[in-house]
Amino acid sequence: MSQSSIFTRIINGEMPGEIVYQDDLVFAIKDIHPKAPVHILIIPREEIGMVNEIGQSNEHIAGRLLSVAAKLAKQFNLDKSGYRLVINNGRDAGQEIKHLHVHLLGGRRLTWPPG
Ligand code: AMP
Repeated sequence: MSQSSIFTRIINGEMPGEIVYQDDLVFAIKDIHPKAPVHILIIPREEIGMVNEIGQSNEHIAGRLLSVAAKLAKQFNLDKSGYRLVINNGRDAGQEIKHLHVHLLGGRRLTWPPG
């Protein structure tokens, strides 16, 4: 049996983590190494590995990731000032954890283009 991801272990209470939201499809935690004053990860409960694995069968989950990002942006007072959503997909993007997650970043001016 393959090992659960770090994120699954956090939502299952097997590892520490600051859970800020959960519903039937997704959950959100504070990033352990924040890159901005607000840095939250929004994660599907299902261990979808990356964007490459999104298709018709799970597009409702992808949609939920975005609607929850919008909800949390509002809750953390980023909706007026602005924020960035990032999904790293694969090696060249530097994806470290092979369990899909949307980074919600805000609370400071974010530079563009990203590195
Ligand atoms: P990525 O490079 O897109 O795969 O991003 C992985 C993110 O997970 C990084 O921003 C890490 O800081 C974050 N991270 C790694 N381990 C943990 C953890 N135990 N709790 C919260 N965030 C984590």
